Amino acid sequence: MGENFAFFLPIMMASFGVAFLIVWGWGARGAGWWSGAFFSVAGGFAVPVAFQALPTDLWGIVADLFFATGFLLFSQALLDRWRANWILRLRLVIWAGSVALCGFAMMIGHVPLELVSSDFGCFLLIALPLVAARGQMRGWPDRALYAAAVLVALDNLMRGSTVSFTLPSGVSFRDSDYAFLMQALACMFGLFLALSALAACVLDLIARYRHDAHVDPLSGLLNRRGFDEAVARLRRKGGSLIACDIDHFKAVNDAHGHATGDRVIVTLGDMLRTLAPPGAVAARFGGEEFLLFLPATDAAAAASIAEAVRLHFAEQAASRLGLAQSLTASFGLTTLHRADPSIHEAIARADSALYEAKEKGRNRVCVRRALAMPAVVSAADGQLRRA
Ligand code: GH3
Ligand code: MG
Ligand code: MG
Repeated sequence: MGENFAFFLPIMMASFGVAFLIVWGWGARGAGWWSGAFFSVAGGFAVPVAFQALPTDLWGIVADLFFATGFLLFSQALLDRWRANWILRLRLVIWAGSVALCGFAMMIGHVPLELVSSDFGCFLLIALPLVAARGQMRGWPDRALYAAAVLVALDNLMRGSTVSFTLPSGVSFRDSDYAFLMQALACMFGLFLALSALAACVLDLIARYRHDAHVDPLSGLLNRRGFDEAVARLRRKGGSLIACDIDHFKAVNDAHGHATGDRVIVTLGDMLRTLAPPGAVAARFGGEEFLLFLPATDAAAAASIAEAVRLHFAEQAASRLGLAQSLTASFGLTTLHRADPSIHEAIARADSALYEAKEKGRNRVCVRRALAMPAVVSAADGQLRRA
């Protein structure tokens, strides 16, 4: 059985090294550390097989070096999620100390000391990040990763503490219970660690792609897709919609350049975010156009919010950006109507109110009410008709 593991483990660990390398190529930063860690551990398991034909015991120190490096990289990968580079110097000292002690044990021909040094070094390297994880865990992928790292740490601690039983004198390393336990438990816990780390990396990547697909990078507000999705969930509560457009924005760009224009957009985005009540959905819908959806808010309350943003922008934006020219914005407001087939009817009404605000001289809030749909009554013949 030990022989089978001896071939299986390096291949399994190296396969995870490749999998993490691919995920790293997709843009998951932390996956690079995992890849290096699994390749190193694969090296550690491959060494006894590779050295089998050679009449030397030197393979031990080479394997120890691979394992210590693999566990240093595991600690780096875990801390990359929880507290990047935490006690890096101490971890490097543990890595170097463990390798040096392994080398010394080999020189004096003391195999148990070598194994204890390696196991305790690996234990410390993977257990220390668990201390830093407190208060940093975000959801079940982190909890699974934590549990897997605890198992791997305990495996190293137990193995290091029981060397005298599992490797009695007179028994060679390859035939010992120690070697069998090491391979069997590394297979189980290594698999758990790799799968939970892979899930955590891939889920982080998906969350990042989702964020990028829904958020406008300039203002940090939602984009059109993000707005549609957020409003679809909230529309049932009814509410009001405010469309907003910066006045004479082209002139700002022409006079001060595109970069300053961008800063004006960011300023209005910040004001919408800070002045909107909790639960509101703010989005940048196009160049200098914004939408603010206020769930369960009537027209009067929405109008006072639009007015507050308008005043704030007109009074503070130019001075905040150090511009002599005044900056203003126009606003169109409407309420959602139960008969609206989608949010887009309300957007069209808010847009036409915005157009009216532009027509009337800009820097104002105009309201377009939803036309009340005639009541629907049930006729005597059972057909539904408009009254
Ligand atoms: P109005 O008062 O009628 O709204 O006039 P306006 O000049 O604001 O409107 P118009 O639609 O003519 O101009 C919008 C300008 O916004 C034109 C375009 O160059 C600029 N623009 C669009 N997107 C961006 C952007 O991301 N950054 C910057 N700086 N400018 C942008
Ligand atoms: Mg404009
Ligand atoms: Mg515009």
